[in-house]
Amino acid sequence: MFNLETKIEEFLPTRPKQAEKLKKLGIFAVEDFLWHFPSRYDDLSKVLNISELKPEELATVSGEIIKFGLKRSWRKKISIIEIYLQDETGIIRATWFNQKYLIDIFAKNKNLRLSGKVKSDKNGFYLSNPTWEIAETKPNHTGRIVPIYPETKGISSKWLRWQIENIFRYNFEIEDPLDEEILKKYHLPSLKKAFYDIHFPQSENSYLVAQKRFAFFDMFLIQLRALQIKSRLEGENAVKLKYPEETIEKFISSLPFELTSDQKKAYQEIKKDLDKPHPMNRLLNGDVGSGKTIVAILSALQTAKNGFQVAIMAPTEVLAFQHFKSFSKMLADFDISVGLLTNSYKLVAGTNKKVISHQSSVIERDSKLSESKNSNIKKLIQNSNPSVATDGLKIQNSNLIREKLLAKIKKGSIDIIIGTHAIIQKDIRFKNLALIIIDEQHRFGVAQRSYLQQKISEINDGLPDTIPHFLTMTATPIPRTISMTLLGSLDVSLIAQMPKNRKPIITRMVLPQKQTEIYNFIKEEIKKGRQAFVILPLVEESEKLTDLKAAISEHERLSRDIFPEFKLGLLHGRMKGKEKEAIMLSFKKRELDILVSTSVIEVGIDIPNATVMIIEEAHRFGLSQLHQFRGRVGRGEHQSYCFLFAKTKTDRLNILEKYTDGFKVAQKDLELRGPGEFLGNRQSGLADGTMQNITNIKMIKCASQEAEKIIQEDSNLLSRPALKKQLEKLNQNVHLE
Ligand code: ADP
Ligand code: MG
Repeated sequence: MFNLETKIEEFLPTRPKQAEKLKKLGIFAVEDFLWHFPSRYDDLSKVLNISELKPEELATVSGEIIKFGLKRSWRKKISIIEIYLQDETGIIRATWFNQKYLIDIFAKNKNLRLSGKVKSDKNGFYLSNPTWEIAETKPNHTGRIVPIYPETKGISSKWLRWQIENIFRYNFEIEDPLDEEILKKYHLPSLKKAFYDIHFPQSENSYLVAQKRFAFFDMFLIQLRALQIKSRLEGENAVKLKYPEETIEKFISSLPFELTSDQKKAYQEIKKDLDKPHPMNRLLNGDVGSGKTIVAILSALQTAKNGFQVAIMAPTEVLAFQHFKSFSKMLADFDISVGLLTNSYKLVAGTNKKVISHQSSVIERDSKLSESKNSNIKKLIQNSNPSVATDGLKIQNSNLIREKLLAKIKKGSIDIIIGTHAIIQKDIRFKNLALIIIDEQHRFGVAQRSYLQQKISEINDGLPDTIPHFLTMTATPIPRTISMTLLGSLDVSLIAQMPKNRKPIITRMVLPQKQTEIYNFIKEEIKKGRQAFVILPLVEESEKLTDLKAAISEHERLSRDIFPEFKLGLLHGRMKGKEKEAIMLSFKKRELDILVSTSVIEVGIDIPNATVMIIEEAHRFGLSQLHQFRGRVGRGEHQSYCFLFAKTKTDRLNILEKYTDGFKVAQKDLELRGPGEFLGNRQSGLADGTMQNITNIKMIKCASQEAEKIIQEDSNLLSRPALKKQLEKLNQNVHLE
């Protein structure tokens, strides 16, 4: 005997191998079979008359075996079983290959039900390898709406159907984690009925209703999780950071432009959050180039003016360095010290306010150095980071300096620490870190972020009982419906509009015969003093080497045949960080006219003089990624262009021609591909049926209301063990944010 908790090894004591394989499908205990939902159904419910069959049709017939035999293919050692099945209207042939055991079964059982595709040859209609069932048994594999399950090697849908049928033969009890009241209110079936209907649907409608229940339940769990995270954070302490009105106003008026109203609104929201005694957990979502950095600087300034530290993490050193420069420059008159801490260089830019205010003299000193050929210091600068040397900041390359910087951070004499994830290395100690800003958050792993959130108090010496405020930023536009469901635990600030002066990027699909025209156009732009990007196709892990070769030869071809008069650089994933940055920098310094790059090109890198981009084999990229790429151009005062090289024109790429707004692009992409494709089902861990409903606003709202009620009553779900168990399962398997 078994119950729903029975481990799979006990349930299948004689089949250890199969038990192992089931684990691959996420089936560890009997109950997990029930949660293993079909990925689709074949409607084999209608039993047809043999005389009415049509070729190529998926059909079910039922009848009596009037003749059967075993043949051996004379050429190969294949055994063929052939039977003739008769009903009241006619006779049909059916064959199976290499399944000799069927002989015994067919000898003992006369009446069969068969399902399969109808084929025809010179001898008439036949079924090849049809699914068969003894006619007296309850329809399972034929003669009903048959579920097709996600399979793995050695575990077929047929086998899974047997197991699930077997489980249902025992009258198990299962507690429904959803209250009866909720079920009634939304006309949802109970858990047991929904399980039955999803595995043994009587009609299309019955499995659709079951799917709806499970989708609702998943959304309900997702909302519960979000609310739990929220209420937990509300129970934590954070430093209250007052709004330093005078400073902020001075800063805003020091800007060479006016903030957009979305930027203002986003900061208003952050400003209020920072002034609360509980940690902020906010996402700043704004398209590439929408001006998120300023909002980050405002938040950092508010924190630093209150006497607390800020950590800013960027996904790459290039971006960290870029932020370091923006922050240092824009905060130069505000008596704030900014430090850069990255990993691979082992170099540290310990700029305090004095160094920053001497920035120009450092540049001067640099130029003097090269004149006086003070080789020692020159070498030091060259060895460290070329970008640093030319940007004239005082940088020293030594572990000693790193230690000095770490000491300053620990002492609290650095207010804003910028870096990559190296910031969370164990040797760092903060004096009083009160705000963490993460740029391009989607590129950080869940693990890194939760490490930060949980462990930060251990390395935050002066503030042992608080949690820092959290601001994450992403340039991936997230449609509102998706963010409502999937980012529920975060408050979201949107920057939907671009700064006024921006010229929309002109985007065009380009067919092969028109490529020369585009190359000529680029030549004209370069002659005008502009620069260009050529983006090469996606690098899949498996084809990295071939793609690398392709990238190298494309760079050669472009240099030799197309643009011999210009200077081209190549950037690819096999390069070391330092090499990449050197190339990026010489492009930025206009030593290169064209940068040929694989998809490793940094999101967020700012090169205003680059106005043209070609994306080769554009059809190989997702729309959002294409949109991110094109955000590399259009950052300066000049009109910019993006050319999508493709073999044929497609509706999908047309979306990019039509819309320059990343939120629109994302919304259209979502509509075109559906939520599953858009988000990548497999990654999220959610069931297909849930995915299909993920943009169902009505459902999300209802689920959210119900979740709220429960959290208010019992936020830790102590009185609801069944629900708690399902939530734990979700926490383990589903990763959304
Ligand atoms: P992203 O949101 O992609 O991080 P950035 O913060 O790098 O965008 O901003 C892109 C560019 O726009 C920067 O050069 C920045 O100085 C400029 N910028 C930001 N806000 C405004 C504004 N309100 N008006 C004009 N330019 C702005
Ligand atoms: Mg940015």
